[in-house]
Amino acid sequence: MKTTRTEEVKMLLAGEWVQREETISVINPQNNECIATVPRASKEDMKYAIESAHKKFSSLESWPVHERIRILKYVSRYVSDNAESFARTIASESSKTINEARGEVARSAQTLEIAAEETRRIQGETVNFDQVEGNENKVGYYYHFPVGVVGAITPFNDPLNLVAHKLGPAIAGGNAVVLKPASETPLSALKLAEAFTEAGLPEGMLSVVTGPGREIGEELVNHPYIKALSFTGGTDAGKKITEKTGTRHVNMELGSNSPVIVLNDADLKDAVAACTDGGFSAAGQNCISVQRVYVEQDSYPLFLEEFIKETKKLKMGDKFTEDTDVGPLISEKEAKRVEQWIHEAKAGGARIETGGVRSGAYVEPAILTNVPPDSTIAKEEIFGPVVLVEPVQNLKEAVDKSNDVEYGLQAGIFTRGVNRAFYAVQNLQVGGVMVNDSSDFRIDAMPFGGTKDSGIGREGVKFAIDTLTEKKVVSFKLSSPF
Ligand code: NDP
Repeated sequence: MKTTRTEEVKMLLAGEWVQREETISVINPQNNECIATVPRASKEDMKYAIESAHKKFSSLESWPVHERIRILKYVSRYVSDNAESFARTIASESSKTINEARGEVARSAQTLEIAAEETRRIQGETVNFDQVEGNENKVGYYYHFPVGVVGAITPFNDPLNLVAHKLGPAIAGGNAVVLKPASETPLSALKLAEAFTEAGLPEGMLSVVTGPGREIGEELVNHPYIKALSFTGGTDAGKKITEKTGTRHVNMELGSNSPVIVLNDADLKDAVAACTDGGFSAAGQNCISVQRVYVEQDSYPLFLEEFIKETKKLKMGDKFTEDTDVGPLISEKEAKRVEQWIHEAKAGGARIETGGVRSGAYVEPAILTNVPPDSTIAKEEIFGPVVLVEPVQNLKEAVDKSNDVEYGLQAGIFTRGVNRAFYAVQNLQVGGVMVNDSSDFRIDAMPFGGTKDSGIGREGVKFAIDTLTEKKVVSFKLSSPF
């Protein structure tokens, strides 16, 4: 990323690194310190980025697969070679601890490497037209070609890897891409854009435009040159965006309030460890964080006791201290929202078993029981370090309760019973079921996405490439060569 003074970071607009008079402050939520500013781009800037991308894409006679592979491999290696610097950027601008940030950097390098590999495998198939009578003289095939300009919008919680999940597949598919990163965490995205320019990505094929979602994000969504839109963020913004995407390709990766089921035949130690990690890593700000745990009655007292014990061991504190487990939320405003939802549940009869106390942007990891089913914290996505635990009579009740929300991203079930696991797999209304793991499991090559209000389509590089390319079918009608 190019800077004028250390803290004034420029954005990448149609091949140029530019500054603007109006800026957005990037705040370290731990101490409210302004660590940098980025340009507050205007709608005209966004329009210019999109139109330049369209012009550049249209002028490229071809962009060979080997060249796209070379660029993606270069960027993947660049991220690995500069891992600690990327990790420090993530930990400074977001709420992640340095160790969580290091984990994200390693995954980002992998995501880009997968993108390079998948580029090689973007293939069509032949089509047997002669399966329909009267078409015996036709042969054909289909192949993938780029959509043109991809619009991408990303959230704050994985500021590098979720950007890699947009840029990798878009470029693999041969597209130009205009990215709008979250206003809280634009620095990691700009740093990644620098790697793409160093790799020799044709100028203008990538813009990273910083500014408010409600202004420039809407311009991105509405512009007719955007042929596919890939959004990761909250369900409210996602729903507003899909009202405007019309017939264009879309990928919507939205929120959730993931359930985990723990049955009597489970390995309780494993279940407790996975729920502690899955509920409180990244201070619970993860779309697949564990939010609701349903435990079969006989195991409930022991599970709860052990879960409280493990949660109390977590060390909350300075993001850059090596043994910190839990950092702050992304802002004091978000921490106050979480605190308020806890208070609302408590007023309705919930018991706070541990944690829940707020200080600035920090909220102590909290476990709640006896939560009223109609409280906000039970129905909506908490996006904070809070887990609700509830006893259930049996597997069916656990699955029914798991499904009784508007979301459906991922779920977990702990059991040693194959048939019980299969029942859960078949009946949970989610995009992914993790058996003997929590909902908080993902590798970057698996199909990832949700049902219901959790989204449309799937990411996981190969699956995103499918959304970000068009299939064109070709039919050759043959006649006698003689
Ligand atoms: P937001 O929905 O608030 O913002 C996400 C992005 O959308 C930001 O870049 C934001 O810009 C932009 N934006 C907001 N409103 C609009 C609009 N009307 N038009 C266009 N762009 C808009 O989400 P958060 O950043 O708070 O991220 C947290 C959410 O993301 C959670 O709900 C989480 O579950 C979800 N998420 C989903 C994942 C998945 O794969 N399913 C993965 C990770 C997170 P600005 O920052 O300028 O407001």
